[in-house]
Amino acid sequence: MSLTARPGHAVVTGGSSGIGLAIAKALAAGGLRVTILGRNRARLDAAVRVLGPDAAALTCDVTDESEVARAFAEAGARGPVQILVNNAGAVETASLAATTPDVWRRMLDVNATSAFLCQQQVLPAMREAGFGRIVNIASTAAVRGYAYVAAYVAAKHALLGLTRATAAEVVTWGITVNAVCPGYTDTPLVARSVERIAEKTGRTVDQARAALAASNPQGRLVRPDEVAAAVRWLVSAEAASVTGQALVISGGEVM
Ligand code: NDP
Repeated sequence: MSLTARPGHAVVTGGSSGIGLAIAKALAAGGLRVTILGRNRARLDAAVRVLGPDAAALTCDVTDESEVARAFAEAGARGPVQILVNNAGAVETASLAATTPDVWRRMLDVNATSAFLCQQQVLPAMREAGFGRIVNIASTAAVRGYAYVAAYVAAKHALLGLTRATAAEVVTWGITVNAVCPGYTDTPLVARSVERIAEKTGRTVDQARAALAASNPQGRLVRPDEVAAAVRWLVSAEAASVTGQALVISGGEVM
């Protein structure tokens, strides 16, 4: 499969772990120059060692407007950004009663506002170039509700709304904007969730993990490389007419 028609530069937020690292690997393997963003320098450096000599990492909290502006200025010095993957995200679990305004704001900031801030940085140059690809890593929580994660669900719905609205506004500029919506995926984020569930319910870690896998009709967690393959296709020349879409990768979980 050919990626973009021209040699390109891709920025992947949260590219130091889990799904983001798998996406960065897939894009680097496709010949793209990849720049990853994240907060933890040591994790970023470890990822770059895996990604190879044409990859770079920038420290950036994607919820912070000035850090985002600085990081994209630095990324732009490595070549215009043709592909943006808004993958950085986090989940905090709480009942509705325990969901404080701070939890609410943190979830909106990291899962939705971050994508808005990052896309604002790249859209003008993409428009000028007449080409761009934006892929937002949402979740099945963008298309259905789940208990005990109201703020996360609302934030991922917001991310999907941003995806659709942006796609509609830039549709004649040669830019596509899509969301990928994974179900439970085998990453450090899910490993942390499994530990929390085990702690709270008295189940073993294996039982907690099996409970999450059971929500997937295929009876397993999604693999990060399966999500990465979808992203790789969405940024390819072949997907030029696909925009404003939500691609669910969940082993058939009914939405
Ligand atoms: P991980 O926790 O493994 O990785 C998250 C990445 O995001 C890390 O690189 C982390 O780096 C980065 N990150 C988190 N917060 C920030 C921030 N404020 N600024 C910059 N970078 C940040 O998570 P996953 O790979 O599992 O998740 C990736 C995305 O996929 C998320 O958006 C998540 O919501 C979504 N998703 C995950 C699913 C799953 O089951 N795993 C299912 C559906 C969607 P650092 O901490 O160093 O900043």
